[in-house]
Amino acid sequence: MKKRLVLPGEMIGTSEEFLPGEGTFEENGKIFSKNVGTLEINEKERTVNVKTVNPPVVLKTGDIVVGTIRDVKSMMAIVDIEKAVGKNRRITGESTGAIHISKIASGYVKDVGSECRMNDIIRAKVIQTEPSLQLSMVGPEFGVLRAVCEKCRMPLEKDGNKLFCKHCERTETRKIANDYGTAEQKL
Ligand SMILES: [Zn+2]
Repeated sequence: MKKRLVLPGEMIGTSEEFLPGEGTFEENGKIFSKNVGTLEINEKERTVNVKTVNPPVVLKTGDIVVGTIRDVKSMMAIVDIEKAVGKNRRITGESTGAIHISKIASGYVKDVGSECRMNDIIRAKVIQTEPSLQLSMVGPEFGVLRAVCEKCRMPLEKDGNKLFCKHCERTETRKIANDYGTAEQKL
C-alpha cells in the first residue's frame, strides 16, 4: 500500500489500471481525486482511494464560506474551509476546496500568488460541490478578509485596492473583499 497526498482534480490513475474507489471519480477513462487527501493504492484489489484526513461536510452550491488559504498553486488556491456564513451551522471538522485561477477575480489573473497568499483569511462562494468542491472569489464581497505582512507578520491595512504594512512601509497586492479589515465583517 503506497501513500501520498493528492489535490482535488488531480489525475491519479486510469480505469485500465485501477477501479475508482472512495474519494475518486472517473472521467473518460481517467481517475481523479475528489478531495485533498491521502492516495491509497490497493495493489491486491487494484483500487485507488483518496482518504480525507477529516470527514467531508455538507456544503451546497451558493453557500458563502470563510476559510484560510492553505496552498497557492500555479492554477489554483487551496482553501481550508472553516465555516459557512449565516447558516447557523458550524462545519464539523475541516473541509478543503479549490479556487481556480479563473475564479479568483473578475478580471484576468496572471498569478494566483499576487491575489492571495498562504494563511490569508478569505470569503468565497461555493460554485460546485461535485465531483470536487470549487469556490469563487469573483465579486466585491468576496476575497481576502485578513492578511499579514509577508516580512513582519503584522496585520496589513487596506490602502485603496492594495494592502499596506505600516511597520515595513511595504505594499502587497491581494484580491481584497470590500469589507477587508472592518470591525463589522463577519468571519
Ligand atoms: Zn511588515
